[in-house]
Amino acid sequence: MVHENCGVVGIYSLDGKNVVPLAIDCLRALQHRGQESWGIAVPGKIPFRRLGLVSGSAEHFHKLVGKYSSKAVIGHVRYSTFGKSTIQNAQPLKVKDLCVAHNGTIANVEELAGMVGGCSFTPQTMSDTLIAAQRLVNLMEVDRDLTRGLAVLKDEMVGSFCFTFLTDDGSVYAARDVRGFRPLVLGYHKEFNAFLIASESCAFSVIGAELLRDVEPGELLKFSESGLETTQFCKEKPHSHCAFEYTYFAHPSSMMEGVSVYEARKRIGRLLAEKFPIPEADVVIPVPDSARPAALGYAQKLGLPFEEGLLKDRYSKRGSMRSFIEPYQASRLAISGSITPIRNIIEGKSVVIIDDSIVRGTSSASIIETIRSAGATKISMLITYPPIRYPCYAGIDFPSQEELLAYREAKNDKSEAKIASKISQSIGADYVGYNDTSNLAKAIGLPETELCFTCSTGDYSSLGIKPIFKSREEMKGDN
Ligand code: SF4
Repeated sequence: MVHENCGVVGIYSLDGKNVVPLAIDCLRALQHRGQESWGIAVPGKIPFRRLGLVSGSAEHFHKLVGKYSSKAVIGHVRYSTFGKSTIQNAQPLKVKDLCVAHNGTIANVEELAGMVGGCSFTPQTMSDTLIAAQRLVNLMEVDRDLTRGLAVLKDEMVGSFCFTFLTDDGSVYAARDVRGFRPLVLGYHKEFNAFLIASESCAFSVIGAELLRDVEPGELLKFSESGLETTQFCKEKPHSHCAFEYTYFAHPSSMMEGVSVYEARKRIGRLLAEKFPIPEADVVIPVPDSARPAALGYAQKLGLPFEEGLLKDRYSKRGSMRSFIEPYQASRLAISGSITPIRNIIEGKSVVIIDDSIVRGTSSASIIETIRSAGATKISMLITYPPIRYPCYAGIDFPSQEELLAYREAKNDKSEAKIASKISQSIGADYVGYNDTSNLAKAIGLPETELCFTCSTGDYSSLGIKPIFKSREEMKGDN
């Protein structure tokens, strides 16, 4: 099973202006969605791809903007949840005259590879995106129609996707899967007279573009000399927007499905305060960075002091990176280890720590230890996302069940309080409280039935699968 969750961008200038600089800035703004590799593709050229952060290639920007000058571009930042972090797996990929960038997961990639013909998939050498692109090119060889190709592919493919495509004739396409697991938004840049697609609206904000709307699940957009065209390759209900985007993954400045991620996180904090008003708490501290708005909401609701008691070391090599989306344990520990406590904020106090999730538990345990060693008298940890006990096959890196702490520690427990108590013991906190799905849906402001909570509930019906869970080594191609 191969997983990708990443950031994608697509831009087309109707005035023929060079939009490559815009694409690079958009990808920098989407860096929180993937830190392993990045790339861009323009018509008629081999895609430019590099490992590492976009800013890590800054010395190439000047040359890149000139050499790849184009009115049409797609781009990608990658976060692998399966498959190796190699330049071969960096995107965009090119198959014949079609360049592809993908955000999501293709869960039945081996099966799909069988349809491509003469192609046997291995995670060491291939990505799911390549298989999907090859299949799509096969389908388009029949009648050159991307809408019909996608309509067939979405029935063959299990998983989630937001694709951007670029053809050698210079048209940019974007498609979102029928359940809308991953976000995708449409924008417009006045000065460049350009239409844009991006995983999140924060990419538009940094370049002064306007957010027009969310791309509909099952919608295909095309930008070309004819302007913007849109078709619906499928209409299915209910939608399954990823609830985890709202608590952790998305940028707080983004708007998703008409909801401000920042405001949603603050509401989550307020509702957590109603659910868990910790008695005699002295101070509320967020685990940086995603939990900040929730901690603020919690503190405001209860009239408690909100303090930045934990700081990320932004000057170390990895300090400003996000720990959860790093693919390997050693990297994750190195990042969580670069959090520094402010002793005088913590010492002698009953501290409420707000975090967005507990996945493997490694960074939570390390943070508790840090706060304890800074002199906290009591540590209550409140988690904005419900217990994660099931792997995600729709684009986020919870690939193997045995590494999920809530599964390992409380696999058969149904009671929320029991699960929380076992997790509390495991990570060394005095108290742990988890959000629940209905509270979270209420805070986000979307109906619970329109949100995906599979990693918490284990209900995979929105994907139409009963998965066989595999180990991380099998998923990552490490064995
Ligand atoms: S399973 Fe969890 S992480 Fe994956 S899409 Fe659903 S809510 Fe998001």
